[in-house]
Amino acid sequence: MLSTMQDVPLLISRILTHGQVVHGTSQVITWTGESEPHRRSYAEIGARAAQLAHALREDLGVEGDERVATLMWNNSEHVEAYFAIPSMGAVLHTLNLRLPPEQLAWVVNHAADRVIIANGSLLPLLAPLLPHLKPVEHVVVSGPGDRSLLAGADVQVHEYEDLIAGKPTAYDWPELDERTAAAMCYTSGTTGDPKGVVYSHRSIYLHSMQINMAQSMALTDADITLVVVPQFHVNAWGLPHGTFMTGVTMLMPDRFLQPAPLAEMIETQRPTHAAAVPTIWQGLLAELTARPRDVSSLTQVTIGGSACPPALMQAFDKLGMRVCHAWGMTETSPLGTIARPPAHVEADTDEEFAYRLTQGRFPASVEARLTGPGGERLPWDGESAGELEVRGPWIAGAYYSGPDSEPLRPDDKFSEDGWLKTGDVGTISPDGFLTLTDRAKDVIKSGGEWISSVELENALMSHPDIAEAAVVAVPDEKWGERPLATVVLKEGASTDFAALRSFLADEGHIAKWQLPERWTIIESVPKTSVGKFDKKVLRRQYAEGSLDVTQI
Ligand code: ADP
Repeated sequence: MLSTMQDVPLLISRILTHGQVVHGTSQVITWTGESEPHRRSYAEIGARAAQLAHALREDLGVEGDERVATLMWNNSEHVEAYFAIPSMGAVLHTLNLRLPPEQLAWVVNHAADRVIIANGSLLPLLAPLLPHLKPVEHVVVSGPGDRSLLAGADVQVHEYEDLIAGKPTAYDWPELDERTAAAMCYTSGTTGDPKGVVYSHRSIYLHSMQINMAQSMALTDADITLVVVPQFHVNAWGLPHGTFMTGVTMLMPDRFLQPAPLAEMIETQRPTHAAAVPTIWQGLLAELTARPRDVSSLTQVTIGGSACPPALMQAFDKLGMRVCHAWGMTETSPLGTIARPPAHVEADTDEEFAYRLTQGRFPASVEARLTGPGGERLPWDGESAGELEVRGPWIAGAYYSGPDSEPLRPDDKFSEDGWLKTGDVGTISPDGFLTLTDRAKDVIKSGGEWISSVELENALMSHPDIAEAAVVAVPDEKWGERPLATVVLKEGASTDFAALRSFLADEGHIAKWQLPERWTIIESVPKTSVGKFDKKVLRRQYAEGSLDVTQI
């Protein structure tokens, strides 16, 4: 028997129309580097998204499910593109401006982007790439920047504002199949070529509802969210869509992602929530310690993308900013887990802190299981560690492989029965909290036992003299692999490695056999295009002998 419910497709255009009408006075505030940021209401954004869709269709001939790329910072025009492109039936392809140029060219060619909307400030990156971007015919430029860089390029150049000017402010958004592609995002290609993850209208819609739930980010129209996580990184964790559902005002940093302007944004615009990877928060913390500011508005901070070091969580707690830890991937839209302690746990206790440090609890729509090294299912006992596999309506089931080919389902990424193999290793407690101990490829396999690089890093980063620390596996004749500790000292600090080793044992409670014997001081930890520790660079530097390693 079929239900008697209406079968209304879950579409991005529905989210847009709702935000534009019901939350028309909510705003997207874009930082400009000048005293007054730029403000645009949701009603204006809705009207301009319609104008952009008209321009893309009528002037640039965008049809069907063509991909339209954006090479943009977080700002209101990027939000307009976020809604216009999928709502008209085309596919938004957000380009990660921090990818190495050859990878950026690879993804543009692979996705066959014919149109790129770019911020003027990113033309120095785009212009030299254009000769390698075969499918690109149109570049639409928005915001400040030197247009002459595009002179002589074999593309048509348009001004964003001129292009949309005079176009109708309403668009008859098509009634699409909710399963069709809305947006795509390539993984940052830590190994091999980047892989295309394609989100559907339905997956984005359901994911937006999830992030708005009280046990997720719990934002309402009383909030202002500082969206530091880039719009080119997993749809800014779904925030632009989620906020249009609830009327949360968005504060967008544009290209001003350094700690000092971020601190100024917080002080003057008074956001209540912010979202970013740990490295951004480490930088902000150092800035706020050096030059204290009034950051009292910011009471909730979502941290994800890599593990949140306990010392960082404590430091933010002291500043009155409560950290909420979350885990996800490009393939998971990204929300996979979020760490809101269960109600029975008493506030401000060690037990509560332990819950907050986990990667968090799975929402109802994300099913999870742990697989051991021999493929066996492991129990949710908080102790058995295995590879995490997930499935659900906003979890990828394949990668994009071009318009005429079947989607890719590599064996190392998808199980035979279709679950996503995350490559993350961890445990799950009986009440559904995930604790990641490592990425499968970062675990240190020493004499048949596993050492968690993350545990060592967290213990090191709780030392008062250490700004950052990364631990990688290096080959060892006797044990197979052993940990190499690479340490960034705080300004003016000095330390000796033997003392650090004792600190790890005494304060960090690290077992003796896990303590690193190889140590090195580095200037900074190399980072990937999305600000995570780039351990393959460290492993390479070690192999090449370019690190000054002390053995104790
Ligand atoms: P990439 O795989 O290129 O780094 P993603 O942004 O998709 O790009 O990264 C997803 C990975 O980031 C996860 O598989 C996991 O290893 C790591 N990650 C994300 N959030 C957390 C977290 N809260 N704690 C630990 N690791 C995390």
